Amino acid sequence: MSTMTPRKKTNPKNSFDINSIRTIMLLYFFTFAAVLIMLIWCLQTFFMDHYFEQMKVQETEHTASLLKKEFLTDSSEFKELALTASESSDIFIRVDTPQGTSVFESGAYFKPSTIAYDYETSTARERLGNGKKSSISLVANDTKKESRKLIYATYIGDTPSNNILYIVAPLYPVKSTISILRIQLKYISFIALIVSALLALFIAKRLSQPIKDITSSAVEMSHGNYNVKFNGGMFTETNELARTLNTASYEMQKTDSYQRDLIANVSHDLKTPLTMIKSYAEMINDISGDNPEKRKEHLHVIITEADRLNKLVSDMLSASKIQSNSLELNKEIFDLVEVAEEIATTYTVLNEQDGYHIRFSKCKPSYVYGDKEKMKQVLSNFISNAVKYCGDDRVIHIDLKRVGKKIRVDVIDHGDGIASDELAHVWERYYRTSANRNRSIEGSGLGLSIVKGILVLHNANYGVKSKVGQGSDFWFEMDTVKKPIEEK
Ligand code: ADP
Repeated sequence: MSTMTPRKKTNPKNSFDINSIRTIMLLYFFTFAAVLIMLIWCLQTFFMDHYFEQMKVQETEHTASLLKKEFLTDSSEFKELALTASESSDIFIRVDTPQGTSVFESGAYFKPSTIAYDYETSTARERLGNGKKSSISLVANDTKKESRKLIYATYIGDTPSNNILYIVAPLYPVKSTISILRIQLKYISFIALIVSALLALFIAKRLSQPIKDITSSAVEMSHGNYNVKFNGGMFTETNELARTLNTASYEMQKTDSYQRDLIANVSHDLKTPLTMIKSYAEMINDISGDNPEKRKEHLHVIITEADRLNKLVSDMLSASKIQSNSLELNKEIFDLVEVAEEIATTYTVLNEQDGYHIRFSKCKPSYVYGDKEKMKQVLSNFISNAVKYCGDDRVIHIDLKRVGKKIRVDVIDHGDGIASDELAHVWERYYRTSANRNRSIEGSGLGLSIVKGILVLHNANYGVKSKVGQGSDFWFEMDTVKKPIEEK
């Protein structure tokens, strides 16, 4: 039965919700983009000079080490390398003797004649001479060109008596580069923020769409529509959720249809005997009240129907107890062979006059630990079903045998049998096979579900083998226990 729940008011589609995926995504992406841009701005503005200088010093050191090697080994190679380097990197290279006389110079940018250059190179030479280092680098402002330059000086060889190599490299691109970068950065910042917003909206949509779909399907389901399908979209997590909800809705659909069936079955099963009882009571009242013979006959029908009603109600009770796991067992040790024989005998006596042949084959006494009355119910159900559904030969076999430490009971008939696709369902509540549903054979479809519940509680194995047209074999197996010591 589905209960109606009031529809929850959801937010209007376009209203602003601070906790929505869209807003949170937007905030996160914006913050991320803003932090990134700020970081780039800081690096560009404050650390560009420093990085550029570092880079230039490294580059110059590398060129110097190449030049030193060539100067010491091959002077023509050295000249060629120096000319190429000063042309490609726009640097000035000069080699001085320890006395300060120039022996080589190349490069047009910083002419040796400029005062600044001479001043700086002499400062470099001085520092090189004072310190213990074999090379020094210093940065100086070039007043004429309004830019800065790097002056690098190193000894060619290991001792101060060697020649000195000077490399003067311009640092002029820094300022202009920074201003170009700043303009570019403005555009980049703007584009990055727009792209991050679009990306946030796109991802939020992709993410929230399946959740919205699942929510609307869940609302549908809460109104009793269990046919609704949950769609999880492209994400594994939402797909998993959708799959779980689909299973839940399938289970709820099953329960719902069970409940409908239950009400239909219960009403039908209760109505038939009640109608009979009422009609026969009326007949006694109107017709047979004074006729003892007829009255007895009619009263017999009433008693039979009342018994049927009683059995049906107690079956329903057992079935619902099993369903709610509240069926309690009164366990004791008893001989299952003896109990089976007792039940078989009642059926033998009952049915012999109707032409039934109940063949009982037993094994040695086998003790089991269980609820004797409930196990009687199991045996009765198997045998009464075999009687109800047996074939024209009206032969029923009840076989008891020992299989290792277990006792196995088979109740076999040669009736119409059960189709293979229905075999598993016969243990379900209210299930009647399609072959028997419309026949006049009396039955509620509860018996085997109760049997299953009882056998499961006893940890017994059970099952059915059946072939259409050949008959059925309903069986169960229980562990045997030692015979209890009888009290004297
Ligand atoms: P019912 O009261 O209808 O017999 P059960 O739960 O005992 O209820 O059995 C369920 C269904 O299983 C029956 O309606 C019948 O269709 C099928 N069934 C049970 N026992 C047999 C049998 N021995 N041969 C053929 N069909 C059987």
